[in-house]
Amino acid sequence: MTKPNPFEVAQRQLDECAKILRLDPDIHAILRVPARELHVSLPVRMDDGTIHVFQGFRVQYNDARGPTKGGIRFHPDETIDTVRALAAWMTWKCALLNLPLGGAKGGVVCNPKEMSRGELERLSRAYIQAIYRFIGPDKDIPAPDVYTNPQIMAWMMDEYSKIAGKNQFGVITGKPLSLGGSAGRDDATARGGIFILREAVKECGVDLKKATVAVQGYGNAGYHAAYLAKSLLGCKIVAISDSKGGIFTEKGLDPEQVRKHKTKTGSVINFPNTKAISNEELLELEVDILIPAALENVITEKNAPNIKAKIVAELANGPTTPEADDVLYKNGVHVRADFLCNAGGVTV
Ligand code: NAD
Repeated sequence: MTKPNPFEVAQRQLDECAKILRLDPDIHAILRVPARELHVSLPVRMDDGTIHVFQGFRVQYNDARGPTKGGIRFHPDETIDTVRALAAWMTWKCALLNLPLGGAKGGVVCNPKEMSRGELERLSRAYIQAIYRFIGPDKDIPAPDVYTNPQIMAWMMDEYSKIAGKNQFGVITGKPLSLGGSAGRDDATARGGIFILREAVKECGVDLKKATVAVQGYGNAGYHAAYLAKSLLGCKIVAISDSKGGIFTEKGLDPEQVRKHKTKTGSVINFPNTKAISNEELLELEVDILIPAALENVITEKNAPNIKAKIVAELANGPTTPEADDVLYKNGVHVRADFLCNAGGVTV
């Protein structure tokens, strides 16, 4: 099955909502397309002395509510359509949370896992040099997303400040605390999702203290979600995965120990006393709560009929296709949508 185009998915979701809301057709037409997008080529000196030209994007989807806001993703499978979709979803998210911000997103096609620290720094700085004129504290404010982190935000802020000739802490969020980062930002995305989950169970008859949870993706969103679901809500985390595969144990996992194992070995796989499972199997586990916290389009019409969770808390952006959404709805699965469930980060 070919993967759905994320931007077509975002447009179909909008069309569906426009019908329900009886949205003014003129507004609908404006919201269906990005306001502005920038494609850049980034020549970066690699450690072996050669130049590699990376492809990068920044999409400013809509700024009607204020400066645009959205993360920067470094990923080998990044496409302009993924960035467009993520920028559209940021627009809906900021509006839903009533933040004075529009929506944007950025991305660079690269594999950070195969790059040295020096190469990553030069790429981060090259990206800012290329998009400098288009961003700024009152124009467009980037943040971290998949495979970018506070260190990368710090390099980017520093590069922007160098060009501006003065410190510009406000140009980027998700920085280290010592460089003007916000306290609480680290786990804010997950914490927001946990609050949504706490409210969702009131409608779904799930007892959090007895609930089992599976988490797909173990980065910023996934790790903190697992940690907080256990420590704040008292849930049992029975499965966790990352890009290399997953682990399962009925006895329940200690999220902090799994994180330490991942830091040491590069993955959650082979964590002691667990059974190996695939990412596909994780989604279909017999659990109360499923937390997709990795990438988009993982719950499709093909596997949606097999989802057994009572609640799907979407911490990833766009994990469920519109067709899968219909199936889950018919099957009585309570989906808490991404643009509500993962809005804690941008809110902080
Ligand atoms: P991250 O880079 O910190 O972590 C990503 C995790 O996903 C890693 O553990 C990685 O191994 C795993 N992963 C990658 N490909 C995978 C695959 N094919 N199958 C299973 N796991 C895979 O990224 P993050 O910031 O946690 O972002 C995760 C999701 O949450 C994304 O959809 C992102 O847009 C969304 N999100 C993040 C934030 C935030 O504040 N970080 C805010 C809102 C939404």
